[in-house]
Amino acid sequence: MPKVVKFGGSSLADANQFRKVADIIKADKHRKLVIPSAPGKRFGADVKVTDMLYGCYEAVCAGCDSVKEFMPIAARYNGIISDLGLHLNLDKEYQTIIDNFNKKSGVDYAASRGEYLNGIILANFLGFKFVDAAQVIFFNTDGSFDAELSDATLSLKLKGIKNAVIPGFYGSMPDGRIKTFSRGGSDFTGAVVARAVNAVVYENWTDVSGVLVADPRIVNNPKVIDSLSYRELRELSYMGATVLHEDAIFPVRRAGIPINIKNTNEPCAAGTMIVPETADLPDPAHIITGIAGKKNFAAITLEKDEMNSEIGFFRRILTLLETEKISFEHIPTGIDTMTLVISNENLAKSPKLVEKIEKVAKPNHIEVEDDIALIAVVGRGMRHKRGTATRVFAALSHANINIRIIDQGSSELNIIVGVHEEDFENAVKVIYDMFILSAKG
Ligand code: ASP
Repeated sequence: MPKVVKFGGSSLADANQFRKVADIIKADKHRKLVIPSAPGKRFGADVKVTDMLYGCYEAVCAGCDSVKEFMPIAARYNGIISDLGLHLNLDKEYQTIIDNFNKKSGVDYAASRGEYLNGIILANFLGFKFVDAAQVIFFNTDGSFDAELSDATLSLKLKGIKNAVIPGFYGSMPDGRIKTFSRGGSDFTGAVVARAVNAVVYENWTDVSGVLVADPRIVNNPKVIDSLSYRELRELSYMGATVLHEDAIFPVRRAGIPINIKNTNEPCAAGTMIVPETADLPDPAHIITGIAGKKNFAAITLEKDEMNSEIGFFRRILTLLETEKISFEHIPTGIDTMTLVISNENLAKSPKLVEKIEKVAKPNHIEVEDDIALIAVVGRGMRHKRGTATRVFAALSHANINIRIIDQGSSELNIIVGVHEEDFENAVKVIYDMFILSAKG
């Protein structure tokens, strides 16, 4: 069974990175199907090719000279080609792209060319077949991903092929137009390909040695998570851990294929293994697998005498949210209180929501706080263990952090706490210290 290997933009940012990628692929004959991103940043202030393409297309649409605007992009690719010593000339491809930009072929077409051109170069360098994603990844007319058609076409097309490079991030619409996934979408392409060929593993190569226990911008040098379940990853990425594209979990999870996050710059490190079922994992070294969080939430708290016995109270509120098309994060409740936790982004969709809630629910009191940060403390290790919540709360209380919201899912996989935004970073730090740095796990 093949391995599907996806390389992110930083892994393919220049010729040196291409060489590392080729060494990785050649080191294991099962690494047969390769999904490249577009070249990413070579240094901090560098610009990703995808962003260059967005900028270039915008400039062409605004009337700028397309040939001149495209030149720095062509130079990036030509630099890689000549540094690798390849006998490959992409001038014809560049001309087609420029012509299509002039014809206003769409912003998705523009962005997709980053992966397309990188795929051609990588296939040439590896001696693998190039398979254009437009021929195997499909969208429906409404823009949603056509999983069935893509899966069937991929398995058929890849059956007779020994090795292939399939660019990430894009596919085609029923009318042939190119469409991209959302940013970072090459992860999703990799997952779709892995599922179609029933890969033994989906290796996702990036520039960190795995999923980190906490955000390195908040916690100094956080540990790498050795292994975690899809559900844990989902909880962490939903709450802001940026590991994989959010949707990339689903195709492989359904097929029971593990994901291995690996570092192109440190290929010998084991990385992080993400497995479909908790039962497939060894006992965790720590009770907490990871901590993630996000700012920018609002808490709308309603108080009403005898709310608890008022039949239909919740329904009226939930119906209102449904008609206003607002999704909520959590609804912690008390006997006579209810708090709606909604992202500020969602709240902005219905500026009169609070007045409408007052109308349908007639509370005695309603209060809105819009500076809430949510922190998810995630870990399969907390299941059936006493004292995890106590330790979270103790850590926060010692740091003088007031907890605004507490929510624990019935799956006992996570504890969510809401704090004021100003306490967010400190809260993550003290929870990390409590569970990961302390000897007890
Ligand atoms: N190149 C695209 C982006 O920068 C897609 C990807 O890298 O996955 O978002």
